[in-house]
Amino acid sequence: MEFQNTPSFAASLDAQDQLASYRQKFFFPQHDGKNVLYFTGNSLGLQPSGVREALMQECDDWAHFGVEAHHHAKTPWYAYHEIFADGAAKLVGALPEEVVVMNQLTVNLQLLLISFYQPKGKRNKILFETKPFPSDHYAFESQARLHGLKSDDVLVEMQPREGEYTLRTEDIISKIHELEDELALVCFGGVNYFSGQFFDIAAITKAAHEVGAIAGFDLAHAAGNLPLHLHDWNVDFACWCTYKYLNSGPGSVAGAFINQKHVKNTGLPRLAGWWGHNKETRFAMKPGFDPMLSAESWQLSNAPVFAMAVHKVALDIFTEVGMEKLRAKSIQLTAYLAFILNEVEKNTGEKLSIITPKNVDERGCHLSVIFPGRDKSLVQKLSERGATVDWREPNVMRIAPVPLYNSFGDVYSFGQILQEVLQSK
Ligand SMILES: *Cc1c(COP(=O)(O)O)cnc(C)c1O
Repeated sequence: MEFQNTPSFAASLDAQDQLASYRQKFFFPQHDGKNVLYFTGNSLGLQPSGVREALMQECDDWAHFGVEAHHHAKTPWYAYHEIFADGAAKLVGALPEEVVVMNQLTVNLQLLLISFYQPKGKRNKILFETKPFPSDHYAFESQARLHGLKSDDVLVEMQPREGEYTLRTEDIISKIHELEDELALVCFGGVNYFSGQFFDIAAITKAAHEVGAIAGFDLAHAAGNLPLHLHDWNVDFACWCTYKYLNSGPGSVAGAFINQKHVKNTGLPRLAGWWGHNKETRFAMKPGFDPMLSAESWQLSNAPVFAMAVHKVALDIFTEVGMEKLRAKSIQLTAYLAFILNEVEKNTGEKLSIITPKNVDERGCHLSVIFPGRDKSLVQKLSERGATVDWREPNVMRIAPVPLYNSFGDVYSFGQILQEVLQSK
């Protein structure tokens, strides 16, 4: 499609957008009485309507029933996490027994690493992508130390080719083959938070398995951004947060995936807690951990109901819309953003470079853009004019048009504001 840098063209795309009405379900921060141009849904998704009511329901049930709410609340608290099995499974392409919603993201990553990073002799290395999210890096370092290893000896950060910002799948595969029997685990972000690169999860998993390694993924920037098929891709484990694309509120409860082939392996090392114990005998309160035969057995604690009440409202929207439809809009919306950035470049003479891959199969919705010679004040100036984007040091602006609530009009208006800011002294 030939894009145009005009308000009427953006409006015509919005008029054809079958998902346009979902925008009404979200609360936008306001600027001069208008919705902010919100492009940081990759950092904290907007609040969907219905959240306040869902929280009030739990407050009322608590007030009304006290401890009895575990059984008598509208959604009984003792089994609260069970309401996510189908929605979370659909979201990441898993079987219901392979997913569980629990804890927070880094906690889940650590719990899964306890089970799936098992260095033995020279097979002790962890391969991950260039510029992983720092929390993941700390998790890898601490796991190495837990096993009495030096992190410098076992952590392998895959570097891009000279002059490139993202990794080529063929290079990742050959790195895996090169490390061969020294490789214990490949653990990549699904979409890298910094570059926006979406990795070929199936190909990486296959290569990891060929050399006898485990493949796990941190889907913080992929869940709710792209359709995923974790079961069919034969991924061993994965985790994700729910406050970015999944709009479930700050620090909300996170997700975990454990492949069916592992969930019944009660011999896997793990940290155990009573909520992972066989639920028929959980309240016998006896010692002797008897894990459930599903991903639920990785749960330690009883359900954080308030966070889950919010997540339910947010996840139901994804179940209703489906990732395929969201992705179809997302591809077009992000392509429009790339076009608009190119227009801004032409009109201002400013050199911008989009480091996120051009190939749509290698990116989700966000674009990372380098503005040579500019600094963080650019983001501040955009914010003063009603556009919210973020800045990642040293020099990258991340712009995330989210298909659930951003419009083509938002993208057009952003281009106008960016142009104005770049041209101002
Ligand atoms: C956002 C993000 C985190 C944040 O971790 P929390 O435990 O939710 O604070 C971790 N890893 C990745 C890859 C992220 O994108």
